[in-house]
Amino acid sequence: MASSDPCEDVCFRYFSSTRLATRKILGCLDPSSYLIRILWFLLLIAWGVICLSVQGSSAAEPNFMIRARIGQKLVEGQPLNWSAQMVYLLSRDGQLVTFAPDEASDYEKTAPKFSGYSTAKMRAGLYKEFGGDYEISGTRHYLVVHPKGQKDLWADRFESLYRSFVHYFIVRGFQPQEPKFPLIAIVFRTQGEYQRYAIKEKSYLGANTLGHYSPRTNRIVLYDSTGGRGTSNLETGDWSQNADTIIHEATHQTAFNTGIHTRFSGVPRWLSEGLAMMFEARGVWDSRSYTRESDRINVDRLKEFKPYAAKRRKPGSLKQLIARDQLFRRDSSGAYAESWALSHYLCETRPQKYSEYLARTAARPIFENYTAKQRIEDFETTFGDDWKMFEAQFLRYMGKL
Ligand SMILES: [Zn+2]
Repeated sequence: MASSDPCEDVCFRYFSSTRLATRKILGCLDPSSYLIRILWFLLLIAWGVICLSVQGSSAAEPNFMIRARIGQKLVEGQPLNWSAQMVYLLSRDGQLVTFAPDEASDYEKTAPKFSGYSTAKMRAGLYKEFGGDYEISGTRHYLVVHPKGQKDLWADRFESLYRSFVHYFIVRGFQPQEPKFPLIAIVFRTQGEYQRYAIKEKSYLGANTLGHYSPRTNRIVLYDSTGGRGTSNLETGDWSQNADTIIHEATHQTAFNTGIHTRFSGVPRWLSEGLAMMFEARGVWDSRSYTRESDRINVDRLKEFKPYAAKRRKPGSLKQLIARDQLFRRDSSGAYAESWALSHYLCETRPQKYSEYLARTAARPIFENYTAKQRIEDFETTFGDDWKMFEAQFLRYMGKL
């Protein structure tokens, strides 16, 4: 999260370049140009799928696990998508691992069903990765890596946001799933440490980014914007920026791990960012304490939306935002402001339809291009196709706030 360009979409760029003929395994192979071990590796995965159908499973995605050595590293997880060129494996620690079949050796099928690593195993892995420089605190759903002696500042806030998020969706008729693995958040002491980690992780961020959630690693990463000088008191300290970053990024992470969004299915950016920004308002993340409609307004985003709507916004831009993510590159602040405004408008005036639309986008197949045409069709199926009327009503509503 940052003032203008909060989040990365690194995983989606990553996938779009390698969108291949899914599961047409044998059809992809040219024996003259591939090593025999590629064939064996792909057959291992294919055999998992065949066994699954013989057992009568109706699961849309194969659920079994394989283990393979990729270079020096041993990885184990669920193959999500594969071709002769690339395998996408959901690792047991929640990260997405990609590799070419010919990079794999010593592979075997290890279990008929995917299971994430235990909290103890994940914690041990984090100790190995971050050494003695940081402390790791656990809550029911989270493992938070943070500067030593600061458990009270960080860990419970992530868990508390998780609970608010789940409550918000349960009262709207959703049945959020339990995450498959402990959720990881890493809090660095300084911006420099944060940026060095982001480069190593291959997350390409803006200079002002305060934190981010990566669907590829499934981790939240941020830094203490007070440089360790802040207090946890939001009223008197300067900790509110940290709190906002946690809310925004934990909303992304929780949405992608409880089934409100689906990782790797190309969720429209306005929808995921709009949801995260809605939660920044205290009347949304703490709806039991703050019940007025005005508490549900994200004041900062409304302040950005007003001048954007008055000067830079083009008529019909709503349809463009829904069809494509390009506005985020052209006018980042306008795109974020309009994404929040649209999400807020839909939740306040058509909550049932908004829930239906979320469920529709979450049901999309993974690793499949979500075309502009399809995005428009899905939106129109839920909200109707009278765009002129829709935009007029939206702008009228926003004009009154
Ligand atoms: Zn975001």
